[in-house]
Amino acid sequence: MAHTITLIPGDGIGPEVADATRRVLEASGVAIDWEVHNAGAEVAEKRGTTLPEEVLESVRRNTIALKGPIGTPIGKGFKSVNVTLRQKLDLYANVRPVKSLPGLEPRFEGTDIVIVRENTEDLYAGLELMIMPGIAQSIKLITAQACTRICEYAFDYAERMGRKRVTVIHKANIMKLSDGLLLECFRKVAQRHPRVEPHEMIVDACALQMVKNANKIDVLVTENLYGDILSDLGAGLVGGLGIVPGANIGESAAVFEAVHGTAPDIAGKDLANPTALIQSAVMMLHHIGESRAAERIEASIIAHFREGGPRTPDLGGSASTREYTDALCKRVASA
Ligand code: ATP
Repeated sequence: MAHTITLIPGDGIGPEVADATRRVLEASGVAIDWEVHNAGAEVAEKRGTTLPEEVLESVRRNTIALKGPIGTPIGKGFKSVNVTLRQKLDLYANVRPVKSLPGLEPRFEGTDIVIVRENTEDLYAGLELMIMPGIAQSIKLITAQACTRICEYAFDYAERMGRKRVTVIHKANIMKLSDGLLLECFRKVAQRHPRVEPHEMIVDACALQMVKNANKIDVLVTENLYGDILSDLGAGLVGGLGIVPGANIGESAAVFEAVHGTAPDIAGKDLANPTALIQSAVMMLHHIGESRAAERIEASIIAHFREGGPRTPDLGGSASTREYTDALCKRVASA
Protein backbone atom coordinates (compact mmCIF):
# COMPACT_ATOMS: atom_id res chain seq x y z
CA MET A 1 0.00 0.00 0.00
CA ALA A 2 1.21 3.50 -0.81
CA HIS A 3 2.24 5.81 2.04
CA THR A 4 0.58 9.22 2.05
CA ILE A 5 3.19 11.82 2.94
CA THR A 6 3.04 15.60 3.07
CA LEU A 7 5.64 17.29 0.88
CA ILE A 8 6.53 20.93 1.54
CA PRO A 9 8.98 21.90 -1.25
CA GLY A 10 9.84 25.27 0.37
CA ASP A 11 11.50 28.41 -0.98
CA GLY A 12 14.67 29.18 -2.97
CA ILE A 13 16.32 25.91 -4.02
CA GLY A 14 13.54 23.99 -2.22
CA PRO A 15 11.46 23.06 -5.30
CA GLU A 16 14.59 21.85 -7.16
CA VAL A 17 15.88 19.63 -4.36
CA ALA A 18 12.34 18.39 -3.59
CA ASP A 19 11.82 17.40 -7.22
CA ALA A 20 15.17 15.56 -7.29
CA THR A 21 14.28 13.74 -4.07
CA ARG A 22 10.91 12.62 -5.41
CA ARG A 23 12.61 11.21 -8.48
CA VAL A 24 15.15 9.25 -6.42
CA LEU A 25 12.44 7.81 -4.16
CA GLU A 26 10.42 6.82 -7.21
CA ALA A 27 13.47 5.03 -8.63
CA SER A 28 13.77 3.06 -5.37
CA GLY A 29 10.34 1.56 -6.02
CA VAL A 30 8.72 2.78 -2.81
CA ALA A 31 5.06 3.74 -3.27
CA ILE A 32 4.29 7.22 -1.97
CA ASP A 33 1.26 9.45 -2.58
CA TRP A 34 2.55 12.96 -2.04
CA GLU A 35 0.25 15.59 -0.65
CA VAL A 36 2.05 18.71 -1.84
CA HIS A 37 1.53 21.89 0.17
CA ASN A 38 3.66 24.94 0.35
CA ALA A 39 4.68 27.15 3.20
CA GLY A 40 7.20 29.92 3.67
CA ALA A 41 8.10 33.33 2.30
CA GLU A 42 6.41 33.02 -1.11
CA VAL A 43 3.20 31.71 0.43
CA ALA A 44 3.24 34.58 2.94
CA GLU A 45 3.12 37.12 0.12
CA LYS A 46 -0.13 35.64 -1.23
CA ARG A 47 -1.80 34.33 1.91
CA GLY A 48 -0.54 36.61 4.68
CA THR A 49 0.78 33.63 6.65
CA THR A 50 3.90 31.52 6.24
CA LEU A 51 2.09 28.39 7.40
CA PRO A 52 -1.51 28.05 6.17
CA GLU A 53 -3.71 25.91 8.42
CA GLU A 54 -4.21 23.21 5.73
CA VAL A 55 -0.45 22.49 5.72
CA LEU A 56 -0.45 21.82 9.44
CA GLU A 57 -3.61 19.73 9.10
CA SER A 58 -2.01 17.68 6.32
CA VAL A 59 1.06 16.90 8.49
CA ARG A 60 -1.18 16.05 11.46
CA ARG A 61 -3.29 13.73 9.31
CA ASN A 62 -0.42 11.97 7.55
CA THR A 63 1.94 12.14 10.58
CA ILE A 64 4.94 12.25 8.22
CA ALA A 65 6.28 15.17 6.19
CA LEU A 66 9.28 15.87 4.00
CA LYS A 67 10.24 19.52 3.93
CA GLY A 68 12.62 21.61 1.84
CA PRO A 69 14.23 24.82 3.15
CA ILE A 70 11.79 27.57 4.07
CA GLY A 71 12.41 31.31 4.25
CA THR A 72 10.89 33.66 6.79
CA PRO A 73 10.17 37.20 5.50
CA ILE A 74 12.43 39.41 7.63
CA GLY A 75 11.05 42.23 9.75
CA LYS A 76 7.36 41.71 8.95
CA GLY A 77 6.32 39.93 12.12
CA PHE A 78 6.13 36.46 10.52
CA LYS A 79 7.08 33.49 12.66
CA SER A 80 9.54 30.94 11.33
CA VAL A 81 7.71 27.93 9.83
CA ASN A 82 10.34 25.60 11.25
CA VAL A 83 9.83 26.90 14.78
CA THR A 84 6.02 26.87 14.42
CA LEU A 85 5.97 23.29 13.14
CA ARG A 86 8.18 22.17 16.02
CA GLN A 87 5.99 23.91 18.58
CA LYS A 88 2.55 22.99 17.19
CA LEU A 89 3.44 19.35 16.58
CA ASP A 90 5.67 19.05 19.65
CA LEU A 91 8.57 17.75 17.55
CA TYR A 92 10.89 17.55 20.53
CA ALA A 93 13.81 15.57 19.11
CA ASN A 94 16.02 16.98 16.39
CA VAL A 95 18.12 14.17 14.95
CA ARG A 96 21.15 15.11 12.85
CA PRO A 97 23.38 12.31 11.56
CA VAL A 98 26.90 13.42 10.61
CA LYS A 99 28.33 10.71 8.41
CA SER A 100 31.28 10.92 6.06
CA LEU A 101 30.80 9.90 2.44
CA PRO A 102 33.68 8.27 0.58
CA GLY A 103 35.50 10.42 -1.93
CA LEU A 104 34.42 13.74 -0.39
CA GLU A 105 37.61 14.20 1.58
CA PRO A 106 35.99 14.37 4.99
CA ARG A 107 38.32 15.37 7.81
CA PHE A 108 38.01 11.81 9.14
CA GLU A 109 37.06 8.69 7.23
CA GLY A 110 34.55 6.66 9.17
CA THR A 111 32.88 9.58 10.95
CA ASP A 112 29.41 8.44 11.99
CA ILE A 113 28.00 10.72 14.68
CA VAL A 114 24.33 11.19 15.49
CA ILE A 115 23.43 14.40 17.31
CA VAL A 116 20.14 14.29 19.23
CA ARG A 117 19.20 17.87 20.05
CA GLU A 118 16.39 18.92 22.39
CA ASN A 119 14.10 21.07 20.28
CA THR A 120 11.64 22.82 22.57
CA GLU A 121 13.37 24.82 25.29
CA ASP A 122 16.74 26.25 26.44
CA LEU A 123 17.58 29.74 25.15
CA TYR A 124 15.11 29.12 22.30
CA ALA A 125 12.14 29.35 24.67
CA GLY A 126 11.80 33.00 23.61
CA LEU A 127 12.09 34.40 27.14
CA GLU A 128 14.02 37.57 26.42
CA LEU A 129 13.61 41.02 27.87
CA MET A 130 15.27 44.42 28.05
CA ILE A 131 15.74 45.01 31.75
CA MET A 132 16.62 48.63 31.00
CA PRO A 133 18.28 50.40 28.07
CA GLY A 134 21.64 48.75 27.56
CA ILE A 135 20.82 45.61 29.57
CA ALA A 136 19.17 42.63 27.88
CA GLN A 137 18.40 39.29 29.47
CA SER A 138 17.69 35.88 27.89
CA ILE A 139 16.39 33.09 30.07
CA LYS A 140 17.67 29.58 29.58
CA LEU A 141 14.72 27.36 30.44
CA ILE A 142 15.54 23.72 31.23
CA THR A 143 12.99 21.27 32.61
CA ALA A 144 13.40 17.76 33.98
CA GLN A 145 10.51 16.64 31.78
CA ALA A 146 12.16 17.75 28.51
CA CYS A 147 15.60 16.51 29.60
CA THR A 148 14.24 13.07 30.51
CA ARG A 149 12.27 12.83 27.27
CA ILE A 150 15.24 13.71 25.05
CA CYS A 151 17.61 11.39 26.94
CA GLU A 152 15.09 8.54 26.66
CA TYR A 153 14.86 9.23 22.93
CA ALA A 154 18.66 9.14 22.56
CA PHE A 155 19.06 5.85 24.45
CA ASP A 156 16.10 4.26 22.61
CA TYR A 157 17.60 5.39 19.31
CA ALA A 158 21.01 3.95 20.29
CA GLU A 159 19.43 0.60 21.17
CA ARG A 160 17.33 0.50 18.01
CA MET A 161 20.25 1.37 15.74
CA GLY A 162 22.79 -0.91 17.46
CA ARG A 163 24.86 2.01 18.78
CA LYS A 164 27.21 1.48 21.72
CA ARG A 165 27.50 4.77 23.56
CA VAL A 166 25.46 7.91 24.30
CA THR A 167 27.35 11.00 25.43
CA VAL A 168 25.55 13.88 27.09
CA ILE A 169 26.98 17.28 26.16
CA HIS A 170 26.72 19.96 28.86
CA LYS A 171 28.37 22.89 30.60
CA ALA A 172 27.37 21.95 34.14
CA ASN A 173 30.67 23.18 35.54
CA ILE A 174 29.37 26.72 34.90
CA MET A 175 25.58 26.33 34.63
CA LYS A 176 25.30 24.15 37.68
CA LEU A 177 21.51 24.24 38.00
CA SER A 178 20.25 24.15 34.41
CA ASP A 179 22.88 21.90 32.84
CA GLY A 180 23.18 20.13 36.19
CA LEU A 181 19.52 19.15 35.79
CA LEU A 182 20.23 17.72 32.34
CA LEU A 183 23.06 15.62 33.81
CA GLU A 184 20.87 14.38 36.64
CA CYS A 185 18.13 13.30 34.21
CA PHE A 186 20.68 11.70 31.87
CA ARG A 187 22.13 9.58 34.69
CA LYS A 188 18.68 8.34 35.72
CA VAL A 189 17.69 7.48 32.16
CA ALA A 190 21.04 5.73 31.57
CA GLN A 191 20.27 3.30 34.38
CA ARG A 192 17.22 2.11 32.46
CA HIS A 193 19.38 1.29 29.39
CA PRO A 194 22.21 -0.95 30.63
CA ARG A 195 23.10 -2.13 27.11
CA VAL A 196 24.28 1.35 26.07
CA GLU A 197 27.33 2.94 27.64
CA PRO A 198 26.66 6.41 29.11
CA HIS A 199 29.31 9.09 28.85
CA GLU A 200 29.52 12.79 29.77
CA MET A 201 31.43 15.58 28.04
CA ILE A 202 31.63 19.36 28.41
CA VAL A 203 30.51 21.19 25.27
CA ASP A 204 33.82 22.96 24.56
CA ALA A 205 35.72 19.67 24.93
CA CYS A 206 33.22 18.11 22.54
CA ALA A 207 33.90 20.79 19.90
CA LEU A 208 37.61 19.99 20.17
CA GLN A 209 37.02 16.24 19.99
CA MET A 210 34.82 16.62 16.92
CA VAL A 211 37.58 18.43 15.10
CA LYS A 212 40.38 16.14 16.35
CA ASN A 213 38.75 12.70 16.61
CA ALA A 214 35.32 12.84 14.99
CA ASN A 215 35.44 9.15 14.08
CA LYS A 216 35.57 8.18 17.77
CA ILE A 217 32.24 9.84 18.64
CA ASP A 218 28.96 7.89 18.63
CA VAL A 219 25.54 9.31 19.69
CA LEU A 220 25.42 12.75 21.36
CA VAL A 221 22.46 14.12 23.30
CA THR A 222 22.29 17.77 24.21
CA GLU A 223 20.33 20.96 24.76
CA ASN A 224 18.94 23.15 21.99
CA LEU A 225 21.72 25.73 21.56
CA TYR A 226 24.71 23.40 21.94
CA GLY A 227 22.98 21.02 19.52
CA ASP A 228 22.47 23.75 16.97
CA ILE A 229 26.13 24.76 16.98
CA LEU A 230 27.58 21.24 17.09
CA SER A 231 25.31 20.13 14.23
CA ASP A 232 26.74 22.75 11.88
CA LEU A 233 30.26 21.93 13.06
CA GLY A 234 29.46 18.33 12.18
CA ALA A 235 28.16 19.31 8.74
CA GLY A 236 31.42 21.15 8.07
CA LEU A 237 33.39 18.02 8.94
CA VAL A 238 31.74 15.82 6.33
CA GLY A 239 31.18 17.97 3.23
CA GLY A 240 28.89 20.83 4.13
CA LEU A 241 25.22 21.72 4.30
CA GLY A 242 24.42 20.22 0.91
CA ILE A 243 25.05 16.75 2.36
CA VAL A 244 23.71 16.40 5.89
CA PRO A 245 20.13 15.37 6.67
CA GLY A 246 17.89 16.09 9.63
CA ALA A 247 14.65 15.06 11.26
CA ASN A 248 12.30 16.55 13.82
CA ILE A 249 10.52 13.83 15.70
CA GLY A 250 7.55 13.94 18.07
CA GLU A 251 5.15 11.41 19.56
CA SER A 252 2.49 11.95 16.91
CA ALA A 253 4.34 13.37 13.88
CA ALA A 254 7.77 13.56 12.27
CA VAL A 255 9.13 16.11 9.81
CA PHE A 256 12.21 15.21 7.78
CA GLU A 257 14.09 18.18 6.38
CA ALA A 258 17.15 19.55 4.67
CA VAL A 259 18.98 21.54 7.29
CA HIS A 260 20.45 24.03 4.83
CA GLY A 261 18.77 27.32 4.02
CA THR A 262 17.05 28.48 0.86
CA ALA A 263 20.39 29.37 -0.83
CA PRO A 264 18.98 32.35 -2.77
CA ASP A 265 22.36 32.81 -4.51
CA ILE A 266 21.86 29.63 -6.57
CA ALA A 267 18.06 29.24 -6.58
CA GLY A 268 16.52 28.40 -9.95
CA LYS A 269 19.93 27.79 -11.57
CA ASP A 270 19.95 23.99 -11.48
CA LEU A 271 23.05 24.08 -9.26
CA ALA A 272 21.70 22.95 -5.89
CA ASN A 273 22.92 19.77 -4.28
CA PRO A 274 19.84 17.67 -3.39
CA THR A 275 21.82 15.10 -1.34
CA ALA A 276 20.83 16.60 2.01
CA LEU A 277 17.10 16.28 1.30
CA ILE A 278 17.59 12.84 -0.29
CA GLN A 279 19.41 11.68 2.86
CA SER A 280 16.59 13.14 4.98
CA ALA A 281 14.17 11.10 2.88
CA VAL A 282 16.31 8.02 3.60
CA MET A 283 15.81 8.69 7.33
CA MET A 284 12.10 9.02 6.63
CA LEU A 285 11.99 5.67 4.82
CA HIS A 286 13.65 3.96 7.81
CA HIS A 287 11.11 5.67 10.07
CA ILE A 288 8.10 4.39 8.11
CA GLY A 289 9.48 0.86 7.88
CA GLU A 290 10.72 1.04 4.26
CA SER A 291 14.25 0.10 5.22
CA ARG A 292 14.97 -1.87 2.03
CA ALA A 293 14.31 1.15 -0.16
CA ALA A 294 16.28 3.30 2.29
CA GLU A 295 19.27 0.98 2.11
CA ARG A 296 19.16 0.90 -1.70
CA ILE A 297 19.34 4.69 -1.85
CA GLU A 298 22.02 4.89 0.86
CA ALA A 299 24.20 2.31 -0.88
CA SER A 300 23.75 4.11 -4.22
CA ILE A 301 24.82 7.47 -2.78
CA ILE A 302 27.93 5.89 -1.25
CA ALA A 303 28.80 4.07 -4.50
CA HIS A 304 28.16 7.23 -6.53
CA PHE A 305 30.70 9.27 -4.58
CA ARG A 306 33.18 6.43 -4.10
CA GLU A 307 33.29 5.83 -7.85
CA GLY A 308 33.65 9.53 -8.67
CA GLY A 309 30.15 10.12 -10.07
CA PRO A 310 29.14 13.65 -11.14
CA ARG A 311 29.09 16.23 -8.34
CA THR A 312 27.41 19.58 -7.94
CA PRO A 313 29.59 22.74 -7.63
CA ASP A 314 29.35 22.93 -3.80
CA LEU A 315 31.34 19.67 -3.75
CA GLY A 316 33.88 20.91 -6.29
CA GLY A 317 32.16 19.38 -9.33
CA SER A 318 30.46 20.89 -12.36
CA ALA A 319 27.31 18.79 -12.62
CA SER A 320 23.87 20.36 -12.57
CA THR A 321 21.21 19.21 -10.10
CA ARG A 322 19.56 17.35 -12.95
CA GLU A 323 22.75 15.57 -14.12
CA TYR A 324 23.56 14.46 -10.58
CA THR A 325 19.99 13.30 -9.98
CA ASP A 326 19.85 11.41 -13.30
CA ALA A 327 23.04 9.52 -12.42
CA LEU A 328 21.81 8.71 -8.93
CA CYS A 329 18.37 7.57 -10.14
CA LYS A 330 20.03 5.19 -12.60
CA ARG A 331 22.06 3.63 -9.81
CA VAL A 332 19.13 3.37 -7.44
CA ALA A 333 16.94 1.74 -10.08
CA SER A 334 19.55 -0.95 -10.72
CA ALA A 335 20.68 -1.43 -7.09
P1 ATP B 1 18.77 31.28 4.43
O1 ATP B 1 18.56 32.75 4.64
O2 ATP B 1 17.55 30.60 3.88
O3 ATP B 1 19.35 30.56 5.62
P2 ATP B 1 21.44 31.41 3.35
O4 ATP B 1 21.96 31.58 1.97
O5 ATP B 1 21.76 32.45 4.36
O6 ATP B 1 19.86 31.16 3.26
P3 ATP B 1 22.08 28.70 3.24
O7 ATP B 1 20.95 28.58 2.30
O8 ATP B 1 22.24 27.63 4.25
O9 ATP B 1 21.99 30.06 3.98
O10 ATP B 1 23.36 28.80 2.34
C1 ATP B 1 24.69 29.06 2.79
C2 ATP B 1 25.60 28.82 1.59
O11 ATP B 1 25.64 27.40 1.30
C3 ATP B 1 25.13 29.50 0.31
O12 ATP B 1 26.23 29.99 -0.43
C4 ATP B 1 24.44 28.42 -0.46
O13 ATP B 1 24.49 28.57 -1.86
C5 ATP B 1 25.17 27.15 -0.01
N1 ATP B 1 24.24 26.00 0.02
C6 ATP B 1 23.33 25.72 0.98
N2 ATP B 1 22.65 24.63 0.68
C7 ATP B 1 23.12 24.19 -0.50
C8 ATP B 1 22.79 23.08 -1.35
N3 ATP B 1 21.84 22.19 -1.03
N4 ATP B 1 23.46 22.95 -2.49
C9 ATP B 1 24.44 23.81 -2.84
N5 ATP B 1 24.80 24.87 -2.08
C10 ATP B 1 24.15 25.05 -0.93
